[in-house]
Amino acid sequence: MARYHIETYGCTSNRGESRQIERKLRDAGHRPVDGPSEADVAIMNSCTVVEKTERNMLRRAEELQAETADLIVTGCMAIAQGEEFAEAGIDARVLHWDEVPNAVGNGECPTTTAGTEPILDGVVGILPIARGCMSDCSYCITKHATGKIDSPPVEENVEKARALVHAGAKEIRITGQDTGVYGWEEGERKLHRLLDRICTEIDGDFRVRVGMANPKGIHGIREELADVFAEHDELYNFIHAPVQSGSNDVLGDMRRQHQVDEFVEVVETFDDRLDYWTLSTDFIVGFPSETDHDHAQSMALFRETRPEKVNVTRFSKRPGTDAADLKGLGGQVKKDRSKEMSELKQQIVGEAYESMVGETREVLAVEEGTGDSVKCRDGAYRQIIVQNASERGVEVGEFLEVEVTGHSTVYAFGEPV
Ligand code: SF4
Repeated sequence: MARYHIETYGCTSNRGESRQIERKLRDAGHRPVDGPSEADVAIMNSCTVVEKTERNMLRRAEELQAETADLIVTGCMAIAQGEEFAEAGIDARVLHWDEVPNAVGNGECPTTTAGTEPILDGVVGILPIARGCMSDCSYCITKHATGKIDSPPVEENVEKARALVHAGAKEIRITGQDTGVYGWEEGERKLHRLLDRICTEIDGDFRVRVGMANPKGIHGIREELADVFAEHDELYNFIHAPVQSGSNDVLGDMRRQHQVDEFVEVVETFDDRLDYWTLSTDFIVGFPSETDHDHAQSMALFRETRPEKVNVTRFSKRPGTDAADLKGLGGQVKKDRSKEMSELKQQIVGEAYESMVGETREVLAVEEGTGDSVKCRDGAYRQIIVQNASERGVEVGEFLEVEVTGHSTVYAFGEPV
């Protein structure tokens, strides 16, 4: 697990968000260290209240970048003026605060669920459908804690989902280390069957978000899965399938179970069935055996599949994993590759948000945002922020229509219509 250093600037809202980031990091097994030089990753929760603060933020980010291998900036300046870090030559990952916990790590699947009991948090119901995975990735430390997949019956998960909806959940988040291998140990992958039954058998107005599913697990059921997504409006048209590399050689060394073609076939199947959907994926850059050619293949895959939500992680060694024994690449190589990929990410994600401006979308108001704003999700799970929510009478848990009026680097802004 990673060693992190976090610095928070600005108002109480930023401090609250940093506390939540820290809680999630500790739950996932990461640990704080005394300063940036001892950390695998430094996190700067930024403020941009006046121009002087802005200059201070850029200066501090520059110092942090020099002291740590990996810098994440979040908070107000990251959201409002995220491009300024790149313009100042600062190599940082610019993220919304709730993306930070998953971005810290080494590409492992998150272990945020201790068991498979559901949790209701506001109008969000978290439903872990299984525990463990079917893989043995060479860089993963999570696996030691979670073991092989253990899948409760479909019936049991449907009943848990029903209980969440009856208790007030409007968004059900299906989670697990790898939701795509749900049922694998019994010889039948059944994520699509579970989703179909949740959408068909549970009464009420709710949305379902499917959490991380590795490409191998969903490749074998891609047709059935895409059909279920196309059939049910309750499902957000969103999949998170971490490909990690565009090179089959590197995937082999990572001991990922999929090949690049399988990932592409999953994407093509969803493209065929759905007009509007979001692909989310993860890339690890700078894996010890990654050559320039391998990296170029990852960039080409990124351009070809155009994921609109992407986690780019710089490889770092974790004790006790097989990949920790491999001779690593130099820090500068990893930085350069990460920068190149992050720039492409900004371009593709920016184009995706830009294409939404002027359109009207039905959204679900999922949770409160900073100040008097609410965070909403459209049908493809893209985040749209409605500001001055109380003045406009928008409440968490409500479905509404919004017109998209603009965007930042990590989400769009909308006005109720
Ligand atoms: S799929 Fe790979 S990275 Fe994810 S928990 Fe399993 S072994 Fe770890």
